Amino acid sequence: MNIPFSTFEHMHRELHQDLAVKFNEIYESGWFIQGKEYIAFEKEYAAYCNSDYCVGVGNGLDAIYLILRALGIGAGDEVIVPSHTFIATALAVYYAGAKPVFCEVEEEYYTIDPSVLEKCITKRTKAIIVVQLYGQAADMDRINELANIYHIPVIEDAAQAHNASYKGKKVGSLATAAAFSFYPGKNLGALGDGGAITTNSFEIKEKVQALCNYGSVKKYVHNYAGVNSRLDELQAGFLRVKLKMLDQWTQERRYLAEKYLSGIKNDKLILPKVRAGNEHVWHLFVVHCDKRDELQNYLKEKGIRTVIHYPIPMHLQKAFADLNYKKGDFPIAEEMADKVLSLPLFIGMSDEEINYVIETINQYE
Ligand SMILES: *Cc1c(COP(=O)(O)O)cnc(C)c1O
Repeated sequence: MNIPFSTFEHMHRELHQDLAVKFNEIYESGWFIQGKEYIAFEKEYAAYCNSDYCVGVGNGLDAIYLILRALGIGAGDEVIVPSHTFIATALAVYYAGAKPVFCEVEEEYYTIDPSVLEKCITKRTKAIIVVQLYGQAADMDRINELANIYHIPVIEDAAQAHNASYKGKKVGSLATAAAFSFYPGKNLGALGDGGAITTNSFEIKEKVQALCNYGSVKKYVHNYAGVNSRLDELQAGFLRVKLKMLDQWTQERRYLAEKYLSGIKNDKLILPKVRAGNEHVWHLFVVHCDKRDELQNYLKEKGIRTVIHYPIPMHLQKAFADLNYKKGDFPIAEEMADKVLSLPLFIGMSDEEINYVIETINQYE
């Protein structure tokens, strides 16, 4: 049997007609940037996240960057970022001209560790970016509490956690502002690039809205040196079609994750844990294995594709060499990089397919 790591085949076959109708509507309208679909999507997605405002932007990286800019963060400022994440989290800080300060992650949940966070705070710290990694929220109460004491805004990097919740509250509504990505492979994905910010702050909303459109508050009146990072009309339209499916897709991901959690019985693997109070959306199902590379090769030989998220922690990436971190600075993040492996999990994955993955893993010695 051949099992891909992920595929859009099933979800897009089912939605082909609806997406084609949407394409035709927008094509006929002749309006491709910041039109009706864009405005409607922002409204619907804000409501979906229980957030007052949503602003559609070009991609997830820009969403983080634009929040930082809206908060007035730039040269001379520091922003705390977990060392175990996708590079966009830290790159956005670079783009803003500020300095990323890396922080260790929790061994059990892979998210930023609030017990060591305080040590990263200095007089220059202007924000903390929390990554809701793999599909579940970090320890938000402790992080927000600490941030309140120091009057530092908290930004959610929610690119992997659409529809996740924490203590009954939706990801995207848990801090000062949140950044989403609609890269095709995310739990809510466009047919191209896309992103959004959500926030309850009118000021942040207004500023991101201007910044993403050349800093323009009114046509040809530019209050800020902004950028061009807009969610286009076609992507907004496609996202509206897909948003209607997100609750159902989330249920399907939970069903598949539950199958892995109850079916995999092999003491060479550590299975992922769900934090108390979290509703996980399983963007990725990540196991931990001492002999990870052997396990990955074994599964490949059996026709099962897996991916490593992520093989190099941020503080050891060459891109950030000038920050002068060294091996040993964040032992847990470094261990994750050596031991994590993401198993196949996608919409339309059949019982037969997932059972084959489970049995193959259970036979691994
Ligand atoms: C995908 C992702 C991003 C970046 O999103 P893009 O839309 O690709 O720019 C940022 N952070 C995390 C954690 C991601 O997984």
